[in-house]
Amino acid sequence: MSLNQLNVLYKEVVLDHAQNPRNKRKILSSEKQLAMQNPTCGDYLNISIKTRQNAITEISFDGWGCTISQASASMMTETLINKNIDDAISIIYNFSKMITGQKVDNSAVGELGDASVLATMAEFPTRIKCATLAWHIINDLLKNEKGNVYGKC
Ligand code: ZN
Repeated sequence: MSLNQLNVLYKEVVLDHAQNPRNKRKILSSEKQLAMQNPTCGDYLNISIKTRQNAITEISFDGWGCTISQASASMMTETLINKNIDDAISIIYNFSKMITGQKVDNSAVGELGDASVLATMAEFPTRIKCATLAWHIINDLLKNEKGNVYGKC
């Protein structure tokens, strides 16, 4: 695939997620949630999760900001729903490696689903925070969740 074709694919996938966001809805105050913002761009995301027996059963997000921040949040939900928490944390780690231009093996890229198109963001360092915001939030939520799981043992 040429770089030009890759850019076309990137634009189509990003625009599709930005215009038809998956798992975007109003988050209720009673839900387990975490909100963060990216002050350099004004992006704001609030993400909620539900887990059962160490698996992620639901991820929802709400917020506003640039196309990349919103598309990346939508992609993240699709990539991580129904994953085991440990697997999800490893996928998040690979996403952060990929987006900062580090080498990630093909099977790990495959696990990222649509989010793999964001690899091109490594060329735009000023926008990386837009693309990683949702992934930082879910990472903190999941690590907290694991703490709770082990705390009960
Ligand atoms: Zn942004």
